[in-house]
Amino acid sequence: MMGLCLRCGKLVCEGKKDFACSDRACRFVMWKNDRFFEQRGKVLTA
Ligand SMILES: [Zn+2]
Repeated sequence: MMGLCLRCGKLVCEGKKDFACSDRACRFVMWKNDRFFEQRGKVLTA
């Protein structure tokens, strides 16, 4: 699951626990156990 950064529009890379912006200067991170996913009825666990 990949997407674009909500902050700068660059590619977001999937990590073990989160999705982080490929631009390190941006530092945008979206946690997988965030409300963002809960609201969509998804539970992402190992
Ligand atoms: Zn970004």
